[in-house]
Amino acid sequence: MKIKRIFAHRVELPLHETTYKWSGGKSVTVFDSTIVGVETETGLVGYGEVCPLGPFYLPAYADGVRAGLRELGPHLLGQDPRELTKLNYRMDAALKGHPYVKSGIDIACWDILGQSAHLPVCELLGGRYGEDVHLYRAISQETPEAMAGKVAQYRAEGYRRFQLKVGGDPDVDIARIHAVAAKLQPGDRLVADANTGWVQHEAVRVARAVREVDVYIEQPCLTYEECLAVRRQCEHPFILDENIDDLGILLRAKADLAMDVVNLKISKLGGLTKTRQARDLCVSMGIAMTLEDSWGGDIATAAIAHLAHSTPPQFLFSTTDFNSYVTVSTAEGAPQRVNGRMAASKSPGLGIQPKLAVLGKVVVNIS
Ligand code: MG
Repeated sequence: MKIKRIFAHRVELPLHETTYKWSGGKSVTVFDSTIVGVETETGLVGYGEVCPLGPFYLPAYADGVRAGLRELGPHLLGQDPRELTKLNYRMDAALKGHPYVKSGIDIACWDILGQSAHLPVCELLGGRYGEDVHLYRAISQETPEAMAGKVAQYRAEGYRRFQLKVGGDPDVDIARIHAVAAKLQPGDRLVADANTGWVQHEAVRVARAVREVDVYIEQPCLTYEECLAVRRQCEHPFILDENIDDLGILLRAKADLAMDVVNLKISKLGGLTKTRQARDLCVSMGIAMTLEDSWGGDIATAAIAHLAHSTPPQFLFSTTDFNSYVTVSTAEGAPQRVNGRMAASKSPGLGIQPKLAVLGKVVVNIS
């Protein structure tokens, strides 16, 4: 089987809640997502999705996905999409870095592999654990009162895990954590995700001020070294996210005892192949994970669901249903949230059928 064409569509994904805000005043109102298609000479077509969280979250931006596909695509024509390790090796040889560019191609090739093997991607990624997986809900940065007010609404939707967007003014963030914690019920889990927004001394101060609160602290500062310094002065369970973007830093963080949980995003690592490698290593090392992506719609959510559903439950801290945050549906068959949980499709591949009328015109076409 050979790749004969790589193409992409650009889709705008507005939010039900109008805007999503996090540290440092950053926000997004309409997400710019790239749906990547890989077509084989047998007629099989696989799909992937890459949707950066704006241009200022990770070293990734929406137009960069499309530019990167134009650069990389010609090197992949004629390759077998089912030989995923080999394909990733070739992608890394043809384009240094830029993991997010490769992610959509890699996901689409997993979709092809699953379709050709008549198996869901989650079974190819290691096997399906249980009936479904639990989801977290991100709480966009607002006043402490507004954020606390969201908890009841999200719990009514079935969520029991809440990720507060902090990383702003430390005094307001302390109030945010206390206000939301006051709304929690037994069994709920709370994460305060600063998304690199605190300077080191501020992060230490916030952690001390919420010492009695049952809360995880996620990615307090910009650099790994600052986060490690905070970790060593902090009694809370600790999560690293933005800094953990390859196996080298993951192994270093394990050796430094720098985290209790790690957040792995598919496009941050460069696709399902590399995220599976990191996921399996975390399972072997005893590190639990949030498994997700930077953002996306139905196709990204399907890929996340297959990855999460093939992870031993005790190591799956949480995962995300981004397709429930956005107003546009791009595919049939994507996971749908039921009582705060979702399940990977039991159909072959990702189990999705893109809605071509929604995807619109082709904006990248390599053949
Ligand atoms: Mg995070």
